[in-house]
Amino acid sequence: MALGAVGFAPAPMSHFDNLYPTANYSPSCGDGAAVNCQADGTYHSFYIHSSVPSLFRTGLRAAFNDLGTTDIDTVELTWSDFNQTYDDVYIYGLQLGNFTAGRAICRYAVNTRVCNAWRMELDTEALPSGYEFAKALTYHEGLHTVGMTHGGNAAPAQTDTDADLGCLRTPVVSGSRFIGNHNINQINAFY
Ligand SMILES: [Zn+2]
Repeated sequence: MALGAVGFAPAPMSHFDNLYPTANYSPSCGDGAAVNCQADGTYHSFYIHSSVPSLFRTGLRAAFNDLGTTDIDTVELTWSDFNQTYDDVYIYGLQLGNFTAGRAICRYAVNTRVCNAWRMELDTEALPSGYEFAKALTYHEGLHTVGMTHGGNAAPAQTDTDADLGCLRTPVVSGSRFIGNHNINQINAFY
């Protein structure tokens, strides 16, 4: 099938491909891009800035621990261990506005497909639902930092609420606080 051509992520165990680049989503990765670029490898560190509310930290750590059960290895770094330029995910809270709860932006692109350092922004005003929402949002943004896309960017395109999208459903809801077997299969097939 044509979608299996060189350059597209393999999706041997699923009915859709949502690991960047897909046949429906292949913008160039670059510094400052809000693109779901590939991670640079299986080592994926994260640092939680003090601007992230304490309630949110618990959800963040739980979500990254779960991501670490895939073929991606996650580790939390302290500030003294964290290299601002070259380490993976720098997470901080701010007021994003425009009803945006979170976003993942590439800080340092290795090339037009791969990002080595991310900034995950979480809206401190969008957390009225507390821990469960925090966890769901962290799963969602965390999977963006390893190249996972929304349903509309999958190939073939899916509705953004398709159950197989797990935490990548949009809008993010507390009920999507799990990675999901489909996404796990996609990650493990690629990394
Ligand atoms: Zn998203």
